[in-house]
Amino acid sequence: MNTLSLFRPEILAMSAYHVADASNFIKLDAMENPYGWPEDIQQDWLEHLKNCPMNRYPDPEAKDLCKALRQSNALPEQSSLMLGNGSDEIIQILMMALPNSATVLAPEPGFVMYKQVAQSLGLRYQGVPLLANSFDLDMPAMLEAIRTLQPSLIFLAYPNNPTGNLFDTQAIKDILATSPGLVVVDEAYSPFADASFIDELPNYQNLLVMRTVSKLGLAGLRLGYLTGNPSILEQLNKVRLPYNINCLTQITASFALQNQHFLLAQTETICQQRSLVLTALQALPGITAYSSAANFILFKLLIKSADDVFASLKKQGILIKNLSHQGGMLSNSLRVTIGKPEENQAFLKALTIALTDQL
Ligand SMILES: *Cc1c(COP(=O)(O)O)cnc(C)c1O
Repeated sequence: MNTLSLFRPEILAMSAYHVADASNFIKLDAMENPYGWPEDIQQDWLEHLKNCPMNRYPDPEAKDLCKALRQSNALPEQSSLMLGNGSDEIIQILMMALPNSATVLAPEPGFVMYKQVAQSLGLRYQGVPLLANSFDLDMPAMLEAIRTLQPSLIFLAYPNNPTGNLFDTQAIKDILATSPGLVVVDEAYSPFADASFIDELPNYQNLLVMRTVSKLGLAGLRLGYLTGNPSILEQLNKVRLPYNINCLTQITASFALQNQHFLLAQTETICQQRSLVLTALQALPGITAYSSAANFILFKLLIKSADDVFASLKKQGILIKNLSHQGGMLSNSLRVTIGKPEENQAFLKALTIALTDQL
C-alpha cells in the first residue's frame, strides 16, 4: 500500500509548523510574556483549581469564562462570543466552515497560520504585499484583489505580525465596506496596542474581532476568542467541537481575568521596555529597526547577513526569530520579542557583539 497516496496533495506539499527548541536559551522568539505569577496569586489560583471537577466534561459554552471575557474586553452586548483552543483553532474553525472553492486573503508579510490553515484545508489563499518600508496596506492592490477574487474571508492582524505596525484605521474601514465576505481583525497584540475595532462591531455586519490571552501572558493555556455578528457565530459554532476549552483553562482564565491587575502591570513594563529596546536598536549602525505597537520588534540587517547574526546570538545564548528565509520584504530580517529588562540588555549586548564580529 502506498500510504502517501492516501493524503491530499496539498498536505503532502506542506511542511509542519516548526518550533525551535529553546532549552537553555534566553527565549525571545515567540512573543511570550517573560514573567511568571506572583507567589500569593499562584497560591490563590491553586486553591481555585481544587474546584475543577476533572471527572466531568467541561461546560461546552464556558459560560463563566465568557462572562469574564465580555467584561474585561467591554464587548458590545449585541455581539456574540466564541472561544477557541488558542486563536489558531478559531482560524481553523472559520476556514472549515467555508466551501472548498472559497478564497482567503491576507496582507503579507503576515501571520503564517492564515496561509498554513488555508492550505491544509485545500482553500485558495491569496497574499497581497504590504507597501515596502512603511508596511502599510497597499490599498489599490487590496481593493483590486477583493474585487477580482471576492474572498470569503480576509485576515487583518492589528497590529500586524511580524511587522508590528497598526494599519490605517480608515483603510480597514474601506476594506470592511467593500468586502463581500467576512473580515477578521486579529487583535492578538491588543494588550500592547492602544487601538481596537471592538467598538466598530455594531457598525459592520461582516466584522469579526479575534483576540487571545496568549500574548497577555497565558500562552500555555491556549485560549482565543472571536466576537461579532450572532448570525455568523451561530454557524461557526456548529463546526467548533463541543469541549474545545477544557476545565483547567476555563477556571484558570476566569481566575486570571479577575486578577488582571498583575498581568496589566507586566504588559505595562513590557511596553516601557519596548521603547528602550527600539531606541537602542535604532542607535546601532547597520540595522533598520521598525517601531512596533506589539511586544516584539522587527529589524533588518543592512550589512551583515541575518543568518550570521542569528547564529552569533544563538552562540551567545539568545534565541530570537529568523525571518529571512521568508524572503521578500523580510529578507535579512530578524524579530525579537521584548523580555525582562535584563534579558533585553543581554540581547542588545550580544547583538552589538554580533554586529562587530567580536565573536
Ligand atoms: C500569536 C498570534 C496568534 C495566535 O495566538 P494563539 O491564541 O496563541 O493561537 C494569532 N494571530 C496573530 C497575529 C499572532 O501573532
